[in-house]
Amino acid sequence: MTDPPDNRTIRILDPMTVNKIAAGEVVERPASVVKELVENAIDAGARTIRVEVSSSGGRITAIGATDNGIGMTADDAILAFAPHATSKISSIADLDSLMTLGFRGEALASIAAISKVTLCTKPRGGRADEGTRVVIEGGTIMEHSETGTPEGTYILVTDLFFNTPARKKFQKSLAAEIAHITGIIEGLALAHPEISVHLIHNAKELVMTEQSPRLLDTIARLFGNQVSADLIPVDRTMLYVSVSGYISRPSLFRKNQRRMFISINSRYVSSAPITSAIIEGYGTLLSKERFPVVFLSLTINPTLIDVNVHPAKKLVKLSHEREICTAVWEAVKNALLITDLIPAGTVKGSKISTGRSPGAPSSTTYGHAPIQSSVVSEPTHAGIITTDRQLRQTELPTGIQPDTSVVPEMEVIGQVGGIYILATTDSGDLILVDQHAVHERIMYELVSRKSDSADQSQELIVPVILHRSAGDAALIRELLPVLEEEGFVIEDFGKNSFLVRAVPVVLGKLEQTDLVDEILADLTREEPERFVSSRERLARIIACRSAIKAGTVCTHEQSKRLLQQLRNVKNPFSCPHGRPTMVRFSRDQMDGMFRRT
Ligand code: ADP
Ligand code: MG
Repeated sequence: MTDPPDNRTIRILDPMTVNKIAAGEVVERPASVVKELVENAIDAGARTIRVEVSSSGGRITAIGATDNGIGMTADDAILAFAPHATSKISSIADLDSLMTLGFRGEALASIAAISKVTLCTKPRGGRADEGTRVVIEGGTIMEHSETGTPEGTYILVTDLFFNTPARKKFQKSLAAEIAHITGIIEGLALAHPEISVHLIHNAKELVMTEQSPRLLDTIARLFGNQVSADLIPVDRTMLYVSVSGYISRPSLFRKNQRRMFISINSRYVSSAPITSAIIEGYGTLLSKERFPVVFLSLTINPTLIDVNVHPAKKLVKLSHEREICTAVWEAVKNALLITDLIPAGTVKGSKISTGRSPGAPSSTTYGHAPIQSSVVSEPTHAGIITTDRQLRQTELPTGIQPDTSVVPEMEVIGQVGGIYILATTDSGDLILVDQHAVHERIMYELVSRKSDSADQSQELIVPVILHRSAGDAALIRELLPVLEEEGFVIEDFGKNSFLVRAVPVVLGKLEQTDLVDEILADLTREEPERFVSSRERLARIIACRSAIKAGTVCTHEQSKRLLQQLRNVKNPFSCPHGRPTMVRFSRDQMDGMFRRT
């Protein structure tokens, strides 16, 4: 046996090594440097911030940030790089009323420990000889001198990770890093519309915002008028939180959550619970795998927030998280409820130009709903009498006054292809209505309205016997409580058979008991989605199966009744799967198509 090696002895690490280790938490990647520098500039009261990133050979080689904030004195310019040096708090109690983005006093020390930094700074209102230049390499001060420099601060970071080879090796591709940096800059710019922010990569301008008191201007600058024109304002103050900003109409969506920008007290953050609350606020307005475009800023009493849970301050911890999330969910839901959400008609997948939206950048990654929706499989034709019966079932009072409806009053012109109802509004807009989707929505709201009346079920004249495979039977057995709650009376008949005695009253008097068979078949066939409860799934299936089908010829009277009923529902603009119920061709758009403008 050999003696344990020398390096088993415990020793206190030298400050340089401590800094390098600590730096790993704050500076995970080049984008972290950008975030810290811009946050410092914002805290310094800058009105314009310019970030320049250089790259060569697929790597980021330099990051420079210029601001016109308060600047630093010669002494502070050195102190700023000391670990745990900050001008923003003096005790832990200050965190309860924190108004700045920084407070840990770690960023500059961390960055300087693992790169080469040049700082030029001059305090606001300082004389010409009050400018300072500091050069630091791997935490060692190489230069501290007087220099001529404009008011504010310029920091240049080069050779990032030069002395931490392991970290250097794990860098993402240049494209990924630039995308990440762009996202951070966008988030910071959106949290601060009052600041003009520029991002330049190898002389190419990637982001440019102007100072504006209006968030909508910043959004339009960043993502184009096509996006800003498709947004709905949100503005609500509740007990623990005020929510303001903009959310997209359901017709504008993304395949991921990257355009969901949330700030809390002007701090751009990522928060999974708040993101989920927003998505849930859309409910059935968005189909799965579609995400809204969101720019929301939350104002919360600082004592309810802990920003000190993550070294890079990306995450925040909220007390009363449940109440805050519920409030956000409500704010989103209500904003959508009071808005006319009929999407504009599109041709060949692109919106018809109304002459109002000049060239918008990078809108290609957005979806516009009506055209490329998923294929719908629907059963076929049923007959006018059945249609009448189906429509009458839905004539129950829904408690919403038609004259307060967000759906415009429409006059039926006719029906196209046995699928679409053609209608017009007072203002001369043409509305195309998907009759199945509309009826499905009406049925869905009827089914999901929790009714406590005892007569939810309707007995079948002749009970139906259904035979199933062993697997399906097991599934049905599992779902029996949900089916019962919805109004089905089903008995397990043994040997994988079931006896259906009664059905929900919304299905009406059933001439065709096939419907019961179809509903149960759907229930066992479809893979359940995450986040969708069995009850919700059943409600959607009942709605879909009991709604009039595409291919059903509707009389003028029937179409009229359908549109009248639609004015009574809460969420008239999409079917329960998130497809639109109608599409609008405005008078303006039509004039544009015929070049009448
Ligand atoms: P923190 O932001 O947590 O205070 P930093 O390490 O990021 O810690 O910065 C240390 C200090 O340096 C800040 O508290 C601030 O006083 C000063 N500072 C950093 N960047 C700037 C800047 N761009 N303009 C003015 N002062 C700055
Ligand atoms: Mg900072």
